[in-house]
Amino acid sequence: MSTCIFCRIAAGEIPATILHQDDEVVAFSDLTPQAPFHALVIPKRHVSTLNDLASADDALVGRLVRVGATLAQERGYGVRGYRTVFNCNADAGQSVFHVHLHVLAGRSLTWPPG
Ligand code: AMP
Repeated sequence: MSTCIFCRIAAGEIPATILHQDDEVVAFSDLTPQAPFHALVIPKRHVSTLNDLASADDALVGRLVRVGATLAQERGYGVRGYRTVFNCNADAGQSVFHVHLHVLAGRSLTWPPG
């Protein structure tokens, strides 16, 4: 059994509110939402950080982004706007080492981020 919590969510071994699932990608609600809508979009295959992506993963990364954009648009945030974020390693605050795209929407988000 994997020790990676997001691998275990992708495998259905631990519960999550699943928002999208296909052969390569799973999206689910963040457990500690930072906005009225806060989803995480992950590859089913384990990839620890953005640094571990190869050129062969370009289409997979595009798919993560497109799924995130579609989720936001389906909920009516397309015009108003939303933020997508990949955190990588310590300075960015990455806490789960399985690549994930945050999709945040439903409030005005400040810039620059903290
Ligand atoms: P990051 O800090 O970029 O690595 O983001 C990790 C995110 O995963 C955080 O926003 C957490 O709230 C979220 N998270 C951690 N465990 C779970 C879980 N079991 N289900 C859903 N979201 C989770």
